[in-house]
Amino acid sequence: MFARIRSSLTLKLFLASFVSTHLPLVAALIYYLQNRHLDPIVTIGLLLAATIAGTALCLGTLWTLLNPLRELRGAIWQFRKSRSAADLRSTRRDEIGLITNAFSMLTSELSRTIATLEHQATSDVVTGLRNRRWLVDNAPAALARARREGTGLAAIVMDLDHFKAINDRHGHDAGDRALTAAGAVVLSCLRPYDLAARIGGEEFAMLLPGCDQRAAMDIANRIRLQLAALSVLPDGERMTASFGVCEALPQIDGLSSILKRADVNLYRAKRGGRNRVSGSQVDAGKPSPSMREERINSTRDA
Ligand code: GH3
Ligand code: MG
Ligand code: MG
Repeated sequence: MFARIRSSLTLKLFLASFVSTHLPLVAALIYYLQNRHLDPIVTIGLLLAATIAGTALCLGTLWTLLNPLRELRGAIWQFRKSRSAADLRSTRRDEIGLITNAFSMLTSELSRTIATLEHQATSDVVTGLRNRRWLVDNAPAALARARREGTGLAAIVMDLDHFKAINDRHGHDAGDRALTAAGAVVLSCLRPYDLAARIGGEEFAMLLPGCDQRAAMDIANRIRLQLAALSVLPDGERMTASFGVCEALPQIDGLSSILKRADVNLYRAKRGGRNRVSGSQVDAGKPSPSMREERINSTRDA
């Protein structure tokens, strides 16, 4: 019987209502039987008091019994807002316990699925890097941190050279393998907190917090040399890439304006003969990119 009560919310509610309304009445009746000469007004008062006490007891018990439902509702709202829910696992065996545990299981499964989908939606399967969407989502925080801490941030845009010809000569699969290798080189040359993404077919972007242009150009050159040393293409053909580098300007730069300026330098590197790194140095103290004088740096190893 006790086990049935434990596993049935209906029985619990029934018992709570029955006991809490009848117990005070029974107590009042016993009191009345022991004191039969009571004044009728006192008797009515006694009954009223017993009823009120029973109602209060009933309300309190129902409130306690149903409290986990309110916690569950709070957890559902929290999950909707933040996609994370408090650990609500319940030891109760009734319907509320079952629903709470089912909800807990469902939210942890859903959180895992959302995390997997988010990772898939922001990753590039060919290179193992993140994609443009991820960069757009994460760049503002990196830029804000660089601004707040005054540590600076540099950007590199990299474009593989004559990649269409590589595909044409060796096939799309060989092109894909080259892209995978290029992604691995990029990752191996960056620090864990740098941001790197494949932002187009054979184009990559990197944001390097705490780097000035000179340091970023060194890193770009390291990537360039490692790419050129790869033997991933058939017939010993080498893969090269061109790089545009620029430094984020304190206070005013957003991701698109940084990438635009790095792109200008990338196309300068392309026009300069490819397989090179091109950067621009900005005069300090001038507020608008269009008013700035840029000194072109271009480096290339033979
Ligand atoms: P440039 O040196 O001026 O950058 O020349 P390019 O040939 O690299 O540039 P273009 O924009 O003409 O061609 C880019 C090529 O990249 C075309 C496209 O077939 C190839 N590409 C884009 N995405 C992929 C991909 O996912 N896999 C493969 N294998 N090739 C891709
Ligand atoms: Mg290209
Ligand atoms: Mg391109």
